[in-house]
Formats: sequence, C-alpha cells, structure tokens
Amino acid sequence: MHRIYLDYNATTPIDPLVLELMTKLMQDTFGNPSSLHREGAQASLRLNEARESMARCLGCDPRELVFTSGGTEAINLALKGVLKTTPGHLITTAVEHQAVLQSAKWLETRGVAVTHLGVSALGELDLGALEQAFRPETRLISVMMANNEIGNLYPIEAIGKIARAHGVLFHVDGVQALGKIPICLKDLPVDLMSFSGHKIYGPKGIGLLYVRRGVKLERLVDGGSQEMEQRGGTENLAGIAGMAKALELCMAHLPEEIARLTQLRDTLEQGLRAIPETYVHGLPQQRIANTLNVSFTGITKETILLALDREGIAVSSGSACASGAIEPSHVLLAMGLPRGEAMGAVRFSLGRWTTGEEIGVAIERVTKVVNQLRM
Ligand SMILES: *Cc1c(COP(=O)(O)O)cnc(C)c1O
Repeated sequence: MHRIYLDYNATTPIDPLVLELMTKLMQDTFGNPSSLHREGAQASLRLNEARESMARCLGCDPRELVFTSGGTEAINLALKGVLKTTPGHLITTAVEHQAVLQSAKWLETRGVAVTHLGVSALGELDLGALEQAFRPETRLISVMMANNEIGNLYPIEAIGKIARAHGVLFHVDGVQALGKIPICLKDLPVDLMSFSGHKIYGPKGIGLLYVRRGVKLERLVDGGSQEMEQRGGTENLAGIAGMAKALELCMAHLPEEIARLTQLRDTLEQGLRAIPETYVHGLPQQRIANTLNVSFTGITKETILLALDREGIAVSSGSACASGAIEPSHVLLAMGLPRGEAMGAVRFSLGRWTTGEEIGVAIERVTKVVNQLRM
C-alpha cells in the first residue's frame, strides 16, 4: 500500500539534494575545522560557507549563529543561558513545546519564577495579559512563532516591541516557522531564536540558535572555543551544511509552496468537516499553511491513529514527543477544550511531497475509519 505521510511537523524526510551534498561532504571533507592543515582549512571553509548561507537566508550576521545538536538544545541554551546563573522571572506561554516547558521547569528548581500565559479558545495570546505579567525581576520572554500542534502564528513583532519597552530579552522558538514563512532577523525585535534541521527537510541532530550581537549567554556545553565560544565540541559539518542547503531549498520556493500547501490543507479541512461532529482547532487565518488539527467527537486519538496507520496514513496526536501518552494535549487543554474533545484531536501536517491525490485518498480513508469507529 502507498503510505501517505501527513506528519511533517513531527519530522520531514530529508531532501535528496541535501542527502547528496552531505554524503559527498562526509567523504571529501572529513577534516576538523579547527585544524591548521589543509584538510582542516577545507572543512573550515565549508563551515563558513554554510554559516554565511544560513545568515543570508535569515537576515542576520553569520557570527550571530550558534549551531547545536537540534532545536531542543538551542532552546535549552537560550533559556538556561540567560537564567541559569542569574535567576529572575521568565514569562512564557502554556502552549509551548516541551523543550521550552521542561527547561522552564528545570529553571524553577534553580530559583527562577515562571509565568505561563494562557490562551483563548482559538489559542490566541492576550498581549494585555503579557503587559500585566511583568515584574521588576523579569529577564526573559519565550514565545513560539508557530505552534507545532495547531499551527497558530503568534505576533512576534508586537511581543518583541513590548519586551524591548521593558528592557527584557526575547527568545522565540522558531522551529515550526522556519522554511514555512519568511523570517528576517534584522527586522525582528528578537534577541534569541531557535531552529532545527529535521523540520525543514534537513538532517536530524542539527539545530541553530540565533544570538543577537551583544546578548550574553552562559554556555551549557563546555569544551573548545567553537561556535563563538558559545558551544564546545567539534562541529557537525555535514549536518550544518545539510541544514544550510535545506534552508536554501525552502526559501527558493517559499511563496509557491505556501500557496500550494494552503490549498491542499484547505481541501483536507473541507473534506473532514463533512464528517459529523468534527471540530477544527486553532486560528483559521493566522496559521501556518501546512497544519490542521481536528477532533472527531467520541473517538480517542490513540484509536484513530492506529486505525489510520493500518489504512496507510501517518498522522499524529499533537506533538510527537507526547503521542505515546494517553494524556490529552496541553495545548488543547490550555485552549479550554473539554477533555473528551481534546482526547480525540488529530494533527494532520502536510509537506513537500504531499499531493492532491493523497489528500483525496486521506479524506476517504479518514471518513471511513471515523464512521467505523463510531459504529
Ligand atoms: C520539533 C520541535 C522542537 C524540537 O526540535 P528538535 O530538533 O526535534 O530537538 C522545538 N520546538 C518546536 C515547536 C518543535 O516543533
């Protein structure tokens, strides 16, 4: 059976052009970028090229980019790097990824006070509540740009302006936004921003933290003086070059891809809305183009996930990290959904290789499975 992969927010397949570049690089450029001989110099050259390409795509200076082992490490570095040794107050939201929520939890054990801003029934943040949350000791705000479960886009520019007005640093989890909407860091009032390779058709095990010039971080990984002395360890050159290539490919086709995915996602949404007692979650408009989160009343997500998997369709129940658990999504609970409805929520996330034909088949099979499970 032809499998239909609709879980691109959990991870993306690697683009063949990225794989080709990485394979060649690992064969030809094995040197350590810190070595002084020709092998090292070649690796160092490729590292600089990748960093510069990434900086061009993001609209920042190459020296503002710190490569990490993934989005999770970038987020840990941002939050702990600011607050670990000088505790204060952190403002974040109730709908963040676990990488943010768990870093905040760890910081709480180190004396950091944390405020989690709530959201509306559509998952919106209340900027008035953000203003109210400031304390004299507030040092950092952390808000995601695009939500991984419901796709909502948060008003990063407006939040950044508020942060600046209060003289507070601002970190953005940009993992789900990268490659899906344009991001120009020099125009954004953002101090720190986290990204990941494997959500943009690049390899797993590579991520990136943007650190605005002048922002001081305590480093988490001690070692050599790599990455502007912000993260020790020999650089993952193939991963870095692969992520840079992956981002170039995303940016090269961004407007067409947004239009294509919006159309496919809307077709899927219309098709699924025809099933009785189906509810779509999140903002209809300010939402990334590829994401659709739906509950089918009376059915739990585990049941439908497994039934769809047998039908050849890979979807998820919100975040991949929590999908093994029987708990409803913390995002949907924060939106005030009744537990029963939150328990039945399924996330469809589309991507580069999703076709109109696949969406048609997906609508048929989901309709069939929901009807069977409700009998
Ligand atoms: C996937 C994801 C992360 C974690 O990135 P990894 O590279 O998998 O560690 C963080 N935040 C969001 C919003 C994500 O979707």
